[in-house]
Amino acid sequence: NKAKRKAIIAGNWKMNNTPAQTTALINEMKPLVADADCEVVLCVPFVDIPAAVEAAKGSNIKIGAENVHFKDSGAFTGEVSADMLNELGVEYVVIGHSERRTYFGETDQTVNLRTLKALEKGLKPIVCVGETLEQRELGYTETLLKFQTKMALTNVTAEQLKNVVIAYEPVWAIGTGVTATADQADEGNGFVRAAIAEAYGDDAAQGVTIQYGGSMNAGNADELTSKENVDGGLIGGASLKAHDFSVIVKAA
Ligand code: PGA
Repeated sequence: NKAKRKAIIAGNWKMNNTPAQTTALINEMKPLVADADCEVVLCVPFVDIPAAVEAAKGSNIKIGAENVHFKDSGAFTGEVSADMLNELGVEYVVIGHSERRTYFGETDQTVNLRTLKALEKGLKPIVCVGETLEQRELGYTETLLKFQTKMALTNVTAEQLKNVVIAYEPVWAIGTGVTATADQADEGNGFVRAAIAEAYGDDAAQGVTIQYGGSMNAGNADELTSKENVDGGLIGGASLKAHDFSVIVKAA
């Protein structure tokens, strides 16, 4: 089943790199990832998107955003719409990252609304789910992952599901240097896939790309991405270094 799915390595730059730094880093990355077997995506800050799209032109690097609003336009100061992203040539968008949920009040409901808007507008959402350490220690990982997954996909049609990517990112592994073991990653991704199967059937669930994220790096990407349920990764810190990122791309 794994062979049928598209593996995606997506960088999540978070709040890093100016437009000039974006151009330089993508120019450095381009030759290093040119022979990738997987899909290569860089999700960058809004203001970096024009520079990123320009630098990635003619290469196999696709550009993503780190968020999108769920309304088409209007009085939403500080937000960015799907039409704006589409006009710039964005293909992917991260939705519901744990930093958005923790620091910016994203809820399962707003994650769902943003996901629906992205899909309606032809952007591919990379929807993030993941448990905190406390939730894991209480034994709620499976329940939590299934709930977050189903909430995020509420009213998403089976046809739209084909454009959805899910990233399982245990909150305790993000930016901490503590990676989930390959078995923990595989299990978490399996819970997500099981939730999708409960909602859409097993065939549909087998087609969904489910990434792992959380301190994936050049040293552990091979083992993590070799697991049956792990279809690539969402990479934070290691996506800011051309060489490290390219090693991860080659591992997937
Ligand atoms: P990290 O971040 O690789 O730096 O842990 C992953 C993420 O937040 O997507």
